[in-house]
Amino acid sequence: MTAHYVGRFAPSPTGLLHAGSLVAALASWLDARANAGRWLVRIEDLDTPRNLEGAAEAILGQLERCGLVADAAPLRQSTRITAYQQALDRLVATRCAYACGCSRRDLELAVAPARMERARHAERIYPGTCRDGLHGKLARSFRLRTVPPDPSDGGAPSSTIAWVDRRLGAQQQDVATSVGDFVLKRADGVWAYQLAVVVDDAAQGVTDVVRGEDLVGNTARQILLQRLLGLPTPRYLHAPLVLAAGGEKLSKQTGAEPLELASPLLALQAAGAVLGLDTGGMTLGDWLAGAVAQWRRRWPLP
Ligand SMILES: [Zn+2]
Repeated sequence: MTAHYVGRFAPSPTGLLHAGSLVAALASWLDARANAGRWLVRIEDLDTPRNLEGAAEAILGQLERCGLVADAAPLRQSTRITAYQQALDRLVATRCAYACGCSRRDLELAVAPARMERARHAERIYPGTCRDGLHGKLARSFRLRTVPPDPSDGGAPSSTIAWVDRRLGAQQQDVATSVGDFVLKRADGVWAYQLAVVVDDAAQGVTDVVRGEDLVGNTARQILLQRLLGLPTPRYLHAPLVLAAGGEKLSKQTGAEPLELASPLLALQAAGAVLGLDTGGMTLGDWLAGAVAQWRRRWPLP
């Protein structure tokens, strides 16, 4: 048993939990309970245009009906703006981040010639236009400099990030070549997910991130940010996803229905099956206790 474990579930209040998000919630709760740790809930409500009134409270209610109760009041990212600004200021001061004045049109033009070779990348790679200054343009967004400002500085963290996922094994990504200088603060003023997650995980003392496999591709960016900000890197476990009929991740976009909680036990059993658990138990409490025991055997901490 670990002496110190803090885990978290971090839903966006853009709608109710569905079968897929319950799997992520259950996995992080089980891992925290299996390690006698604390389990926190963080409401990722920064993308205000997408937030739905009352969704955060409704999600907390759904979790509670499933017996998944956080050990502290939920943290709302909308209350954390000062911390994100301080982190950005620090990155700018150390020349690890810079203002970008490119409009959407500038970016389309700049990226177009390189697009053919980079078709396999889902995201466009920013060509670094504003890395050395705005050249008279107004600052619109802020980006992370994935290539150290002085290549001879051997002390700067490399953009190649290697890490071990507890379920998926060894992972590696060169953030500079596969993602590029990614956005930390958007042109519309919204703080980027990557920066907010890293700042909040550190502030909440999170030791273990257990989340859906759809987020595995963000991990290298987050570890690079942790290193540049001098923050600890948690352990990671990316859990299996619930797939929609077409084979893509089940989400609101692929037609996920809000979780039917007439029987929380049935919902948990379905979520447990996705995680490879076959737990018995006629009551919610029995089922959860059995699932914790199975999880502990299956995913021991390294
Ligand atoms: Zn730019």
